[in-house]
Amino acid sequence: MCILALAACGPTLQPLTPRGPVPASVDIRDPETAPVPAATPAMAAAAARADAEYFDEKPLMVPVADVAPSALRDSYNSARSGGRAHRALDIPARRGTPVLAAVDGTILSLRQNTLGGTTLYLVDADRRFVYYYAHLDRYADRISAGVEVRQGQIVGFVGTSGNAPRNFPHLHFQALRVDPRRRDWWNGSPVDIRAHFQIAGRERAL
Ligand SMILES: [Zn+2]
Repeated sequence: MCILALAACGPTLQPLTPRGPVPASVDIRDPETAPVPAATPAMAAAAARADAEYFDEKPLMVPVADVAPSALRDSYNSARSGGRAHRALDIPARRGTPVLAAVDGTILSLRQNTLGGTTLYLVDADRRFVYYYAHLDRYADRISAGVEVRQGQIVGFVGTSGNAPRNFPHLHFQALRVDPRRRDWWNGSPVDIRAHFQIAGRERAL
């Protein structure tokens, strides 16, 4: 197909029979077998399958108290200011609602920044995903970098810090796939995990 198409369109090529010899100068790569860029749909699909298996084994809890997985609304591909894509999940809740550890893991850092406001990063026990929490009203007591937390433990409270609208308290929650070759774990690739939540947000008694 490709050869015939080139032969038909390229004025300088000799006419070719379907099984005839191919001139060395003709690019005969078939789109389906040609070398492909790094992020192929097949690789993305394989990563998605691996994620699904992982989250089947280690179910995610919705990181806001009393919110069920079925209540989560898709906001992953929403547009944001400055041409940014959202690549995260917004979970609306009343101001002050407990924000929970979605998984067993370790607090990596607590940071203040202009867009996210009061934020924290949590890495899971397998160091496979980093979870970014933003717009917190405040942190929970005893939450600091290096602290190990259990799924359902309160890590903070819903608010509107950073650039969140004052009338829209919510948790901005983002999963970042850890690349073990890189040290800048906060720049991991965002992953849409909304379909993987299996447990409603429920405070864990310490
Ligand atoms: Zn958000």
